[in-house]
Amino acid sequence: MNSQTTASATPAAAASEAPVIAIRDLHKSYGPLDVIKGVSLTAPRGHVISLIGSSGSGKSTLLRCCNLLENSQQGDILFEDEAVRWKGRGQDRVPADRAQVTRFRTNLSMVFQQFNLWSHLSILQNVMEAPVTVLGQPRAEVEARARALLDKVGIGSKCDAWPAQLSGGQQQRAAIARALCMQPKALLFDEPTSALDPELQQEVVRVIKDLAGEHRTMILVTHDMRLAADVSDHVVFLHDGLVAEQGPPAQLFGDPQSERLRRFLSATM
Ligand code: ADP
Ligand code: MG
Repeated sequence: MNSQTTASATPAAAASEAPVIAIRDLHKSYGPLDVIKGVSLTAPRGHVISLIGSSGSGKSTLLRCCNLLENSQQGDILFEDEAVRWKGRGQDRVPADRAQVTRFRTNLSMVFQQFNLWSHLSILQNVMEAPVTVLGQPRAEVEARARALLDKVGIGSKCDAWPAQLSGGQQQRAAIARALCMQPKALLFDEPTSALDPELQQEVVRVIKDLAGEHRTMILVTHDMRLAADVSDHVVFLHDGLVAEQGPPAQLFGDPQSERLRRFLSATM
């Protein structure tokens, strides 16, 4: 990870600080299908955690459980040491406190594989929408921040364009600006480059590397092992709903311990 910090960077935290996100022994099923079978994960402030694993191993589900887009049936989810409060048990378990859910979600911004920009809003309006409508922040202040973020991701000239007028790489960079405009405590990326042609992936990779260099807290689900190796402080290999192996990238990619991970890496690298 790039150790250089910029003026806007959040300094990496002292080890004693509460993790931004922690998951403890999480279980999630879709009806009879057990998808997450007891996963624990910690994202310390300023760290990048990458989640790798085969298609269907549960990466997206785990990420969506983190910001409560999906319910889980057992285990704890903590945001800065504050645990989600639940009501009900097992299949009936749901978050008990809507205000808490909103607070968690707005602090953990998600970037999706398919960008998910609103097609009826301009690029600038896409970036401004949630801070204005969800957080109730003053429009002028949000607009200034949105324009600066679009500049930062290299599409400052596209403010008035519609999403359909942008390339996939530009749309994904707009989606990253939109996530950042919420001023979240962490960013959750779900395969942000997988829907892009190879030549467009690099422009998104560059933005993600810049964010890692600023010591943003991130959980990154990716198929791009080179990206995971370059930006991560910690890599988690998920297999069949369980953490099969984890460690620093040099260890995971350079000296995989399990046959499963060796097989996965030889198929993807
Ligand atoms: P990954 O992101 O690692 O490819 P997913 O988290 O998308 O894996 O999926 C894990 C498993 O959960 C797969 O078997 C998938 O078919 C199943 N699954 C995902 N979403 C749903 C859903 N909404 N309903 C039922 N099964 C689902
Ligand atoms: Mg997925």
